Amino acid sequence: MAEVADVLASYVGREVEVQHGPDTVNAAMIRHWCEAMGDENPTYLDQSLAAASVHGGIVAPPTMLQAWVMRNTSKDVGRQDNPFGHLLDYLDSIGFTSVVGTNSEQTYERYLRPGDRVMMRTTIDDVSPEKTTGLGTGHFVTTLQSYFDADDELVGTMRFRIFKFRPTPKVAAPAPAAAIPAAAIPAGTEHAVTPRVKRPRPATTEDGDFFFAGAKAKQLLVQGCDDCGSLQHPPHAACRRCQSFNLVPKEMSGRGEIYSFVVTHYPQVPSFDYPLAVALVQLDEGPRVVANIVDADPATLVIGQRLEVTFIEHDDELTLPAFRVVSV
Ligand SMILES: [Zn+2]
Repeated sequence: MAEVADVLASYVGREVEVQHGPDTVNAAMIRHWCEAMGDENPTYLDQSLAAASVHGGIVAPPTMLQAWVMRNTSKDVGRQDNPFGHLLDYLDSIGFTSVVGTNSEQTYERYLRPGDRVMMRTTIDDVSPEKTTGLGTGHFVTTLQSYFDADDELVGTMRFRIFKFRPTPKVAAPAPAAAIPAAAIPAGTEHAVTPRVKRPRPATTEDGDFFFAGAKAKQLLVQGCDDCGSLQHPPHAACRRCQSFNLVPKEMSGRGEIYSFVVTHYPQVPSFDYPLAVALVQLDEGPRVVANIVDADPATLVIGQRLEVTFIEHDDELTLPAFRVVSV
């Protein structure tokens, strides 16, 4: 084991590649990006309004960072011949053959403007010790992309994390109980229960942490604006109505009705019960939240049905609001 750890540690800090942006930052790519994202911020799109803003002209959306250096991926054939590719080859060779992207974090040092030329340097930032998740056992591999302008000044960074793992072998579905005569079950195995796979963790940000902390305290919290009084969900960095940052969690009554719902039968993920009812719940206070409906036969659900909140403790760390039908 120590040997594996040494090999993995030897990759940390190594440079993977240097990528030069094929085009300078330009208004046309910014406009296409904004159209694709549905972003109508005039700072990115309107020359005259942007000129009158604190930016003094059009700037690029910070989240476009990666777009400025993107290479022609249709020319990528097979694994990269660089330290990152070699690290993945090594993890494959010791059994961690599956891969999933887990998350990325970006930081921005300054806005990019038309005419800026961007260069990206990628290094291997971290390889975790062996970890076991709901997917299997493996290692998290984090690369650090650092973005520089033509003066070699840092303009932003991105950390991109993948999980290279050995997949958990699929467990055959248990046969229906009636099909197994009691005498056929070897003594001592009646109570052999496989521990349940944990429910996937919700993706959280600083803006939304209060929602999950509230659920743990058995409170249904929604973001409220202290300036215009509006309520909004899902959480956002600013008020969607008045752009205020004065947002505070407000406790809801927990009462509402089914605005819409789906019942999932397949594919079945081990941490959930099926058929699984997922509803868009119209809260009496106005906002809508997505949650499971529990304690009800999904076949009997109808739009408009009255609901009340309940809290399900899925495990030691995760409590989520769910709803149950109330008779009126
Ligand atoms: Zn507001």
